[in-house]
Amino acid sequence: MSTEAIERFAARVMEAAGLQPVAPVPLERLAAAYGVDSIVRSVMIEDGRLEQRNGRTVIFLREGSMATRQRFTLAHELGHLMLAKPDEDFTARRMWSGPDREERFCDQFAAAVLLPRDWVIAQFGGAPERLSVVRKLARTAEASLSASLLRLREVLGWERSLLHWRRYEGDWRLISTAGLPRHAHNRLTSEAATRALLDALTYGPDTQEISLPIALAGRSTVIPAEASVGERSAVALAAFARERRV
Ligand SMILES: [Zn+2]
Repeated sequence: MSTEAIERFAARVMEAAGLQPVAPVPLERLAAAYGVDSIVRSVMIEDGRLEQRNGRTVIFLREGSMATRQRFTLAHELGHLMLAKPDEDFTARRMWSGPDREERFCDQFAAAVLLPRDWVIAQFGGAPERLSVVRKLARTAEASLSASLLRLREVLGWERSLLHWRRYEGDWRLISTAGLPRHAHNRLTSEAATRALLDALTYGPDTQEISLPIALAGRSTVIPAEASVGERSAVALAAFARERRV
């Protein structure tokens, strides 16, 4: 299914459930409208699981994971439910790896449901590519910063990327990225200079314009970015150069 078709499909799914495509989307109501009998938080390895057995549909979510992640997972499992044949007993597991076609569909469906395209355009179209805008979208839609940034890229053509560090035992580690240009995929590492800069920034919710030193494919480089640092985590919205054609 094309991205366009998934957007239309997600909009139809919400409309049929009597829901406005306006965030925050009441996912529990959406689930109930499509016959989910219960949503259970439990201790498990994967993020989520959809089970249909003996005429009952149950979605399991990993207890203890962030609320925003649970919401994304719930929407993702609803994607599996949409694909499932109603008379078939099956179990769909949610792991964060293995992006096969169905998994990709479910992720796109989840983004389209949680962050409805037309709503994103109406609320954030023309907004500057700022961390404060990503945060506002995330807060309003009850989505993660990463999912929000990816949606801003997808729907509004944003070009910036999100980097997220966590402080472990006094050391900053780059733990996740979203929306990196392809030439930077899996090629970004923090350097001593990166950690020194994060240490030197003022704590607090305000963002600061920085020149971010970082290693890209093993080479030191500097990326213009906007950053915000807390006691244990730091985020930056970075403006990588456009993909170089080789
Ligand atoms: Zn899945």
